[in-house]
Amino acid sequence: MKMNSKIQSYYMLKLKCPRCYKGDLFINPGLFVMTRFLKMHEKCKKCNQDFRIEPEFYSTALWIGFPIVLIVFIPLLFFGLYLNEYYGISLKVILPIFLILCFLLQIPIMRISRAILLHLTFKYFGWHKKE
Ligand SMILES: [Zn+2]
Repeated sequence: MKMNSKIQSYYMLKLKCPRCYKGDLFINPGLFVMTRFLKMHEKCKKCNQDFRIEPEFYSTALWIGFPIVLIVFIPLLFFGLYLNEYYGISLKVILPIFLILCFLLQIPIMRISRAILLHLTFKYFGWHKKE
């Protein structure tokens, strides 16, 4: 069971189809992309799993993204304050870097949230094509 969830998180982060672990969820694969970053396939190229579920389905992904944002950014914020306190690096330098990081990390976080949501919704089914 523990092994399975490890495998599942691996394919979540790889943004793979939750049903077969082979097809890509997004048209542009990879975590860091600059264009069409929320554009998804209508269904899995490998197993035919439909990714369009229902119209509001992906708005739930925002609620998954939010705690991830907190987990990532709160330590970053404290790290910034630490650099300021102990190394005298000005917040005028730290804050813009922090904001740029926030901005850049939005894309992978949004993509991972969608992948997590799909992986919570569908169970791995193995290498069988859906009719
Ligand atoms: Zn699939």
